[in-house]
Amino acid sequence: KSPVVASSKGYSGRGKNIVTKHDAVICGRKNASKMMDFTPEFESGDCEEMDMRLPNNDYNHLKRHSNKADRRQQKLHEKKEHSTAEHAMDPRTRLLLYKLVNSGTLESISGSISTGKESVVLHAYGGRIEGRTLATEVAIKVFKTTLNEFKTREKYVHGDHRFSKDDYKKQNPRKIIKMWAMKECANLGRMHKFNIPCPVVQIIKKHVLVMTFIGEDRKPAPKLKHAKLSAENIEDAYDQVVKIMRKMYLKCGLVHADLSEYNMLWHADTVWIIDVSQAVYLDHPRALEFLYRDCTNVVNFFSESGAHAVMTPEQLFNKVTDLDIRGQGSDFIAQVQRYAKEKSQELIANEKSDKNYAFDYFFDKSVKDKSNFDTLIISDSDSEEDDDDVDDDDEVCSDIKEEGYMDVIYDTANVVDNACSDDSNATAGEVDNLKDENCKNGSRVGVCKDNEVGEMKEVSINDETAQGSS
Ligand code: ADP
Ligand code: MN
Repeated sequence: KSPVVASSKGYSGRGKNIVTKHDAVICGRKNASKMMDFTPEFESGDCEEMDMRLPNNDYNHLKRHSNKADRRQQKLHEKKEHSTAEHAMDPRTRLLLYKLVNSGTLESISGSISTGKESVVLHAYGGRIEGRTLATEVAIKVFKTTLNEFKTREKYVHGDHRFSKDDYKKQNPRKIIKMWAMKECANLGRMHKFNIPCPVVQIIKKHVLVMTFIGEDRKPAPKLKHAKLSAENIEDAYDQVVKIMRKMYLKCGLVHADLSEYNMLWHADTVWIIDVSQAVYLDHPRALEFLYRDCTNVVNFFSESGAHAVMTPEQLFNKVTDLDIRGQGSDFIAQVQRYAKEKSQELIANEKSDKNYAFDYFFDKSVKDKSNFDTLIISDSDSEEDDDDVDDDDEVCSDIKEEGYMDVIYDTANVVDNACSDDSNATAGEVDNLKDENCKNGSRVGVCKDNEVGEMKEVSINDETAQGSS
C-alpha cells in the first residue's frame, strides 16, 4: 500500500487523533516502498498488493546491506582494473590455445589484456582456418567458472519460467562455461547484424571465444571510464550510447544487463559495446529491471562526465523502450515490475511453459539462424571424451574441484614455472583464500594482485606450452 502522505505540515488530525509523519504505519509503508529503490540484486520478493511495513530499524539494516552489495559490485569492477595481467590457465585451456596456434588458426598469442574473475582476455594475431582468414588482430576471451560466478550469473538464467535453477546447477560446469561463450557469440552476432559497433566473432571453441580486437597495434581501446574524452566527444558518446541502447532493445530484442562505462570501449570516435554474455532477451522476467539499472549506470556516468542534457534514468528507459511508464525511482520500478509481470503471465498463458535447459533455450532462441555461426564453431574431435555428459547429481562444488576448473591465481613466477610442468602442480601456486560459505569443500577462489591497467604482458603460451605438450 502506498504510504498516505501527511499534509505539508507533517501531521494530520488533531488532539488525540493526530497522525504525524512518524506514525509507525506510515513510516513502515514508506520504508517498504523505498526498498524498491534497491538494486535488482536485492531480492525483495514481490511486495505488491500487500500492506507491508518495515520498522525503521529493519529498513536501516536492509539499506546498509544493499549498499554493501552495491559497493562490492563496484569494487569487483575496480579490482579487475588492477588485477595482475598474468593468470594461470588450466591445462585444458592451454592445450586448446596451443592447438589453435599450432594449426595456424592463430598466428601467435601476444599477451593478456585483462584478467577478471569471469574471463581472461588475450591479444593474438589471427591466422587461417579452412581457407578463411581471420582478422589480423584478435581478442581471445577465455571464460572461467568460479563458484562465485555460479552464484552471480545464476540470476540471468534463473527466474525464467522455462528452466529451473536446479537444471542449471546440475549441468556440468564445463558445459556451463561453454554456454556462456556460446551466448556471448550469439549475442554479438545479433548485435553485429544490426550494425551495433561490437567485436565480430571469428571462431568459438568450447569456452574460448576469438573475436576482432578493438584497438590497434596491440593497444586495446580504453573503456569509457578511462578514455578521458573531450567535452565534445562526451556529448557525442552519449548520443551514440542512447542510439545503441534503443537499437539493442528494439531491433535485437536484447538487454545488455551489465552496461556501464566499464563495458563500453572508445575507439575511432565510436562507442563499442562488449561483454554481452549475460545479456538477456526481452522476455526474461527481469529484463526491464536490468534495463533500468543499465539506464541508471549510463545516466550516472554521463552526468558525472559533464555531458549536457542527460536524461533521467526514467526518461532514458522510456526512450529506449518506447514505453510510457510514469513515475520516478521506486514508483517507477514498481510500475516496471507490474508491467513485466503482466507480460510474463501473457507469455506463460500463450506458450505453455515447457522446461528446457538453459543451454537449449538460449541456443534456440539466439541462433534461429544458426548457419550464421555454425562455421565459427570448431569442434575438438580428439578430446571429445572431455565433453561427454557427466551430468549427475554431484554437487557442482566437487565437480569443479575435481576437474581442475576451480580457477586459481598464481603470482607471475608461478605462472611461468607451471606453464610447462605437469598438471598436478597447477594448483599448488600461491593463493589468497577467499572464504565462500557456499563451498563446503573448501575450493579456492583466487584473488588478483595489483598491477598496471591496460598494459600488456608477455605470456609464454606459445613456446612453453609447445614444449610441454610435444
Ligand atoms: P569480463 O566479463 O571479464 O568483464 P569483458 O568482455 O568485459 O570480460 O573483457 C574484459 C576486458 O578485456 C574489457 O574491459 C576490455 O578492456 C578487454 N576486451 C574485451 N574484449 C575486447 C576486444 N574485442 N578488443 C579489445 N579489448 C577487449
Ligand atoms: Mn566487462
